[in-house]
Amino acid sequence: MNIKMVDLKGQHDKISEEVNKGIQDVINSTSFINGPQVKEFNKNLSDYHGGVNVVSCANGTDALQIALMSLDLQPGDEVIVPVHTYVATAEVIALLRLKPVFVDVHPELFTIDINQIEKKITKNTKAIVPVHLYGQCADMETIMRIASKYNLYVIEDTAQAIGAIYKFANGKTAIAGTIGDIGTTSFFPSKNLGCYGDGGAMFFKDEELAKKCHMIANHGQSVKYHHDIIGCNSRLDSIQAAILNVKLKYIDDYSGARQKAASIYNELLKDIPGIKTPKVSDSSTHVYHQYTLILDESINRNDLQSFFKSKEIPSMIYYPIPLHKQKAYEKELVSGESFPVTERLSNTVLSLPIHTELTREEQEFVVSSLIEFLNK
Ligand SMILES: *Cc1c(COP(=O)(O)O)cnc(C)c1O
Repeated sequence: MNIKMVDLKGQHDKISEEVNKGIQDVINSTSFINGPQVKEFNKNLSDYHGGVNVVSCANGTDALQIALMSLDLQPGDEVIVPVHTYVATAEVIALLRLKPVFVDVHPELFTIDINQIEKKITKNTKAIVPVHLYGQCADMETIMRIASKYNLYVIEDTAQAIGAIYKFANGKTAIAGTIGDIGTTSFFPSKNLGCYGDGGAMFFKDEELAKKCHMIANHGQSVKYHHDIIGCNSRLDSIQAAILNVKLKYIDDYSGARQKAASIYNELLKDIPGIKTPKVSDSSTHVYHQYTLILDESINRNDLQSFFKSKEIPSMIYYPIPLHKQKAYEKELVSGESFPVTERLSNTVLSLPIHTELTREEQEFVVSSLIEFLNK
């Protein structure tokens, strides 16, 4: 049956003519860096995000790093971050000699536990980096309220949730990445809007901050060879921008296909004892970058993965070792700190294949195989 965790080939085949032409145009022009495609993509991505300022860059990790660099933080300043996330979120904080302060996550929503943020705030706290993990928004309304109370910056890590819609209590909505001071995202190939290499972008309500981040991403230069601030070299190249200009047109179809696949899984998996399907937040849509189950602790996850493997069904654990147990980050911990929810999740989550090309037949096979394993 050849089920894939993510099917980039199938997705490309449907748009290959347009994409190949876009790539060929860049090659013909030889404007590999800063070609017109990049400007066009920044504009298109801004339009998709309600007109916010957009600065593209080389990848989602750089987007986080540049965002943090723009805030003039001092070594030792503290940045609050969920402990259940991809390493990049904490890595850039530590890299800039800031201190990542870990907070546990909600046991079913997987996003930062808003009830534990204030306990971790000190006089050195300067920012919060919520992560919209697996495709739905963290509780941004509460996070923004806390940030305003303590005068903190908010950088939304939107690498897994591009296009998710957040709903405020008053009924107003905002697209993921446009609520905090800066939103960051990634176009890594397997992300919901993936390019054919590395890519990333930042979103800003504030135009000055956008200009500053654009400068930082271009060696801190205002005018060519005039370097006003310390920057780095982080650009989205023209070929990636050309590909993204095509794919961005289909992003809502892509989200829709993922949501449809998720609803089929939900239906097929309901009433299976020991399996918890993803809970959707009341205040966010879900774009299902991952479809992540929580298994009852009585289910042997290793054995299940081996059983899946014997049927050529891929499955993944995001993430098998929590950040506070990683060698590089152990030293960031305060003694006595514990993250019981994240530890439990790292032992019990399992992500099933989900992508834009997944068929109902494939999903039925995944679920019938799961049931077969549970009945063994
Ligand atoms: C993928 C990802 C990143 C990093 O993006 P890259 O483009 O791979 O650098 C950051 N944060 C989260 C939550 C991610 O999933």
